[in-house]
Amino acid sequence: MSIEINQVSKYFGSFKALEQIQLSIQKGELIALLGPSGSGKTSLLRIIAGLEAASEGSIVFNGKDMTNVNAISRQVGFVFQHYALFSHMTVADNISYGLRVRPRSKRPSKQEIKNKVDELLNLVKLDGLQKRYPSQLSGGQRQRVALARALAVQPEVLLLDEPFGALDAKVRKELRRWLRNLHNQFNVTSIFVTHDQEEAMDVADRIVVMNHGRIEQVGTPDEVYEHPNSPFVFDFLGNVNLFKGRLKAGNLNTGTISLRAAGGGHLEDSDVVGYIRPHQMELHRVSGEGAFPIKITHIQPVGPIVFLEATNLDNQETMEIELPKNEFTDLNLTIGEVVYSKPKQVHVFSPEEFSI
Ligand code: ATP
Repeated sequence: MSIEINQVSKYFGSFKALEQIQLSIQKGELIALLGPSGSGKTSLLRIIAGLEAASEGSIVFNGKDMTNVNAISRQVGFVFQHYALFSHMTVADNISYGLRVRPRSKRPSKQEIKNKVDELLNLVKLDGLQKRYPSQLSGGQRQRVALARALAVQPEVLLLDEPFGALDAKVRKELRRWLRNLHNQFNVTSIFVTHDQEEAMDVADRIVVMNHGRIEQVGTPDEVYEHPNSPFVFDFLGNVNLFKGRLKAGNLNTGTISLRAAGGGHLEDSDVVGYIRPHQMELHRVSGEGAFPIKITHIQPVGPIVFLEATNLDNQETMEIELPKNEFTDLNLTIGEVVYSKPKQVHVFSPEEFSI
């Protein structure tokens, strides 16, 4: 099912929770709505589901206007953060609920329902747990039951609101991988809400970054991470080092150093803020063009990456640097040493855009 969101706005009284959202989702895509608390992710998901009406605009599924079609007729499956399983029903009854409440003419037989439940439990790797109650399951297991229940009705669209939000980090990671595999297998158009950038980047085909009820950027995880089009997106998707300066002939000049900047043509000859990701800071033992001195203050190896903190001796600001372990080993760095950093890529934005 393809989904078109056309100029959707949502008001709660005079408060504008969503402002002219325009988004096209292809059949089979796995989309993450990513943004801070209050950015409008859940409101948008509920409007796509038909649980909430848009104040303006339309929702179109496969070319058909669904704006005034109710949630049940939209054929969407939902999974919410807090499982929302029926506590008085067994796992099997929870999963088959959507099938059992169908009108008699469309209801599968008891045997068909049983087979479907067995098949779904196998899919979510909970074989044999048909007779358990939700209270007898772990958080991760409950969330997988919720997903099985959403899939039981063979939805054309799967909507997930912070589906793994309440779970611990390890289980979250497992479920993410598993959601990805499940999605590849079923190819159901899926949209999930998260405020966790790592989760969005791990799972989604495309990420929709939201802020204050508006879409800031839409792109693949790589696009939004490597080519953020605003300071907000840059900051929200990962760690940053900031440099204030002036853009001259495509270079960010801080007064003492000059760094080659990406983009920012319209900012020529004006004050700018340079943004650099920690993994784009090269380190050298000797000074060179575009390099500036830093003093290493902290070294934290984590698996194949070494996280460093350093003081920029140019402006005394703290910088974060990530080096592959082999580069770190070759440099043989120790705390207190002064080395030279040369950023591989600097993005510049105007200070007015600097609203993080
Ligand atoms: P979170 O990550 O905290 O769930 P979100 O990005 O999903 O946030 P929404 O739940 O969509 O954000 O809320 C967007 C804005 O709309 C918030 O400022 C919220 O307070 C407001 N809002 C949401 N629902 C209502 C409502 N029923 N009445 C009034 N305001 C609402």
